[in-house]
Amino acid sequence: MKTIGLLGGMSWESTLSYYKAINESVQNKLGGLHSAKISLYSVDFNEIEQLQHQGKWDETAKILSDSAKSVESGGADFLLICTNTMHKVAPQIESSISIPILHIADATAEQLRIDGIQKVGLIGTRFTMEQDFYKNRLTEKFGIEVIVPNSEQQTIIHDIIYQELCLGVIRDDSRAQYLDIIHSLSAQGAEAVILGCTEIALLVKQEHTDVTLYDTTAIHAEAAVLLALKNS
Ligand code: GLU
Repeated sequence: MKTIGLLGGMSWESTLSYYKAINESVQNKLGGLHSAKISLYSVDFNEIEQLQHQGKWDETAKILSDSAKSVESGGADFLLICTNTMHKVAPQIESSISIPILHIADATAEQLRIDGIQKVGLIGTRFTMEQDFYKNRLTEKFGIEVIVPNSEQQTIIHDIIYQELCLGVIRDDSRAQYLDIIHSLSAQGAEAVILGCTEIALLVKQEHTDVTLYDTTAIHAEAAVLLALKNS
């Protein structure tokens, strides 16, 4: 079994989901008392969040690159950045380490492709919905058309992520707002919706809607397990 590297803490609420999903999957596949080999570095999200909102992405890249080096020296064979948003600086992180990154958008797109989804809705932080680093990867590398909520809806999604989900606050009224937005993307022709923020599945689950959801945390975690167990 290979050692899975996790760059976590963004937020720790979702790193917990990764840790649980990875270990449950390894135990399901191998049985007994098997669990995953993991090297984890968990950052202080407060400083990352402030730099994000100040647009100081180079400074976040420096912190995350140093953290990724710690994951590598902890024995990781490959790295997962446990947030969609911070894949914005994945190229800088990748160039500072010698192990490969398992990219969250690639893992998600592979699943969409297997399922034949050609047009997808994307919800996540405003950075992920608005900027090109994530959408373009889905479109240019995988040929998947991506639609995002309008600006007002993006504000609702973004604020709930930072003011509630990253703090472990789960509210029924927030779920209702998310579901309205998910349904509006579906009405615009999205065949499915990507939960493109690693905390969203804490709030919205498949049982809440008929629209097919792609939970990036679960998909990324499972891709990591398959890679860790490949040829072992
Ligand atoms: N975990 C979130 C994501 O997947 C948001 C937190 C962050 O900004 O990293 O994008």
